[in-house]
Amino acid sequence: MTVTVRFAPSPTGHIHIGNARTALFNWLFAQKHKGRFIQRFDDTDVQRSKQEYADAILYDLHWLGIFPDAIDYQSKRFEHYDAAAKRLKSAGVLYPCYETPEELELKRKILLSRRLPPVYGRDALKLNDADKAAHEEAGRKPHWRFLLPNFAGDPFAPTRTEVQWSDVVRGSETVDLASLSDPVLVREDGTYLYTLPSVVDDIEMGVSHIIRGDDHVTNTGVQIALFNALGAEPPAFGHHNLLTTVSGEGLSKRSGALSIAGLREAGIESMAVASLAVLLGTSENVSAVPTMPELAERFEPEATSKSASKFDPEELGVLNRALLHSMRFEDAATRLLGLGISGDKAEPFWIAVRGNLETLGDAAHWWQIVQNGPGAVEALSDEDRVFVREAFDLLPEGPWDHATWKLWTDQVKEKSGRKGKGLFMPLRLALTGQSSGPELADLLPLLDPEEMLARRP
Ligand code: GLU
Repeated sequence: MTVTVRFAPSPTGHIHIGNARTALFNWLFAQKHKGRFIQRFDDTDVQRSKQEYADAILYDLHWLGIFPDAIDYQSKRFEHYDAAAKRLKSAGVLYPCYETPEELELKRKILLSRRLPPVYGRDALKLNDADKAAHEEAGRKPHWRFLLPNFAGDPFAPTRTEVQWSDVVRGSETVDLASLSDPVLVREDGTYLYTLPSVVDDIEMGVSHIIRGDDHVTNTGVQIALFNALGAEPPAFGHHNLLTTVSGEGLSKRSGALSIAGLREAGIESMAVASLAVLLGTSENVSAVPTMPELAERFEPEATSKSASKFDPEELGVLNRALLHSMRFEDAATRLLGLGISGDKAEPFWIAVRGNLETLGDAAHWWQIVQNGPGAVEALSDEDRVFVREAFDLLPEGPWDHATWKLWTDQVKEKSGRKGKGLFMPLRLALTGQSSGPELADLLPLLDPEEMLARRP
């Protein structure tokens, strides 16, 4: 059987690093097993779902290196859910309930005050046709609950019913169906909650592995029962731990916290995001992995911790620098071109500056210096200005190469008697306008001798 996974966000906002973790776990799992990845938009909530968010999610996935084999929208599949609901109703496992939220809350409170678990007592199952008709006449519309198979003969006497599965991430897992209320699958207004459409799609789309956050572990008990009620073999499940902020708060799509788009705009490399999103909270060391196939090699779902992991954006900076510092020119060239960095000098320039970059975009700043010289030079003392002027007089004839810097500074050293910082810092300031930056031996061959001499202080 082909491994088939899906990433199923609601398009109600921009995805964040926690959502990216789920998407990447699925993508890498599919890569490892030569499987398929379905992008499914859970947009049954038509009020809050927006096409612009779906488009933005697809853009973010592409940027991360995820290329879905198929894209589907739940909002286009309502007739499939209607058909499944009809089947469940005729099997007697989807039953109408007429309680208002206030009535349900009261029942909950009564149970809690008696120190009983607040599990729905199936009162609506006792309604006969006349009771239902009376409710309808009074203007009430039913919501529909799925009758969990947690009883032997009498639904009012549930007994411990363990649903077990071997979780791809967490190992053996169990949910007791008797500890749960029959879930509402259809609201009063006929709209669907997430559970039924999700299971119907997973069946019809041939999903073999459902990999998602561990906030869904309890849902899995219900969903396995629903797969069975619909006559389908349940797929395998995997639940990864969630990421939180450094202060331990959950990430939210709606708040836009740490969105993938925001990280991209801040100049973070996609592989820095992917490396952290996948390796954080696992027994693997977090390090910058340059390509998706290499990340797939490192990906071990069962090495994931069971408790939530704190996501520190500072770590992205570290990974980003590491990726840039070893990035080959071939891999940077197109983006450098976009910054106006091209021609014969582009490759040696990249090799010279990459070790000093926070973001790839910073290369533009150094290119500017190499092409046009530093704009404002930090003030040199009078003494240093004289020193630099004399040093410029000793500049070897062009063209300059890697040996030029040593040749030049050896001569300057001999002539001036200066050494160390006193020798190099004024020269660095005069050449680049900055007190730190790439190796000058690498930069000098990129400079134009005539232009430089014109800047003799
Ligand atoms: N739309 C659901 C969510 O974003 C999907 C959960 C699942 O993967 O089944 O939580």
